[in-house]
Amino acid sequence: MLDEFIHKPRIAYFSMEIALRCEIPTYAGGLGILAGDTMRSATDLGLPMVAVSLISRAGFFRQEIDDTGRQLEQAATWDPRRWAQALDAKIAVHIEDRTVWIRAWLYVLEGHMGGRQPVLLLDTDLDENESSDREITHYLYGGGPIYRLKQEIVLGIGGARLLQALGFTIRHYHMNEGHSALLGLELMRRYTHSAEHLRPGESPYDFPRVRDMCSFTTHTPVEAGHDRYSYDLIRRILDNGFDIETIKRLAGDENLNMTRLALNLSEYVNGVARKHAEISSAMFPGYRVHAITNGVHPYTWAAEPFRQIFDHYLPGWCHEPQLLIRADCCIPDAAIWQAHVQAKQLLIEKVQALTGVVLQPDIAVIGFARRMTAYKRPDFLFSDLERLQLIAHKYPFQIVLAGKAHPMDENGKHLIEQLHAQARALKGKITVVYLPDYDMALAQTLTAGADVWLNTPLPPLEASGTSGMKAAFNGVPNLSVLDGWWIEACIEGLTGWAIGDAAGINDGDAAMLYDKLENLVLPLYYGRSDGGWVRLMKGAISKNASYFNSHRMMRRYATEAYNW
Ligand SMILES: *Cc1c(COP(=O)(O)O)cnc(C)c1O
Repeated sequence: MLDEFIHKPRIAYFSMEIALRCEIPTYAGGLGILAGDTMRSATDLGLPMVAVSLISRAGFFRQEIDDTGRQLEQAATWDPRRWAQALDAKIAVHIEDRTVWIRAWLYVLEGHMGGRQPVLLLDTDLDENESSDREITHYLYGGGPIYRLKQEIVLGIGGARLLQALGFTIRHYHMNEGHSALLGLELMRRYTHSAEHLRPGESPYDFPRVRDMCSFTTHTPVEAGHDRYSYDLIRRILDNGFDIETIKRLAGDENLNMTRLALNLSEYVNGVARKHAEISSAMFPGYRVHAITNGVHPYTWAAEPFRQIFDHYLPGWCHEPQLLIRADCCIPDAAIWQAHVQAKQLLIEKVQALTGVVLQPDIAVIGFARRMTAYKRPDFLFSDLERLQLIAHKYPFQIVLAGKAHPMDENGKHLIEQLHAQARALKGKITVVYLPDYDMALAQTLTAGADVWLNTPLPPLEASGTSGMKAAFNGVPNLSVLDGWWIEACIEGLTGWAIGDAAGINDGDAAMLYDKLENLVLPLYYGRSDGGWVRLMKGAISKNASYFNSHRMMRRYATEAYNW
């Protein structure tokens, strides 16, 4: 089953979550979409990789929302047999004082251009294991720190061992976020100098070799966001014969900080946008943090009508999305507008199917969808309902929202309730719909069908952001706070608009958003006949999509990070 994949060396990509297709709920948000897009680009580019993640049998969750706006979480249990094949090999890791067996399911990612890449989904739900251990790979981001540490042992240590047992030759390891950093400990164990060659006091571990084999992408711009474990917990759960003093030197004196461990065992460290790399360098002085800015997968995120016009006017764009740079001069305005009208119609149908609300095709749609969590500030647009209504009176618009809150994020769930209350308050004046169960498929429809894509995070907390890039592939301009990728992508009035300046924007500054909407965005939209709006749509494609795609990202990882 694996023959076609193990005959040549590969790069192993480790990620706690991965969005392979919308029927497989092994992802929670942007991190998982990035992992999926990474592998999809590797597939199109013929870059030999193998992804390692968890089977997450219970999925993240399926979101329902009751009449009052409360989020209800339903299990999103899926059947791996439907999409993947169980592999025979099993390996063991030690967790607490037990042996935990792990096997993998093989999912084959098939690209639309004929490429194939293996994805291994790790599974502890085996008869050999105690019942509590069988659940280690069930719940994505479920449970507390002990559960999380067990998952990270399975992912990092188990994943590395299983790759070896299956016969893969791995030239380089890429950690997508710190969750898989324990992989570095496994490599240290593997690459040890034998005692007779050691000088007194010299470490037995071949650190240069381990570091040469590892790259690490960090995603979190705040200290509190990094996984850390007390050494008491480490002694109790992760008894793998490591000398704790050695781990402390690599991962921190007080706690085992997964980010620090990954930093110390990786030759190449990457932030997900230029600004995020700067912030990460400041947070962890002494490490060089590179900036390969994120991108999204071209074919996946261009809606069908746009795929068709790109194929017609810019053949080859799927392999070389740089060709989209010619979109502004080589694609007729009418073709762009027609493709957008079709994409918007699909959104209108989806909204009607999900909520019963019928949106007006001739009225502007403002889209906002992402994980619902405080720093994303989904309520920013609703800071001043009176002002919002005054603008709508002059230039009508409709608002489409979506997003899940993590089940333990009470704040995020409260935001969803607030948004529903605001939608009710605006009823009859501004149409506001909240679509339940935001997932990959809904993201495709929404980022393509909106007229304007809104983003209002609290800087500098949006490390990159990728949904705006998806919008750009469909000629949808961004209206966004200057943070993450948008600092690099915004050309005012040409690819979209900035809200506030590089110094950031406070909660009280919503007037800046309203001013842009009232004076620039909506007048341009309704003055479409002079061609200004389509020029902007073309700017989003030619200046943003041509660059902020995962093909460019992977070509850079391949030439700059992967040491093979
Ligand atoms: C793209 C995507 C995200 C990430 O969106 P951001 O705006 O970058 O936060 C989250 N969830 C889903 C389902 C997505 O498709």
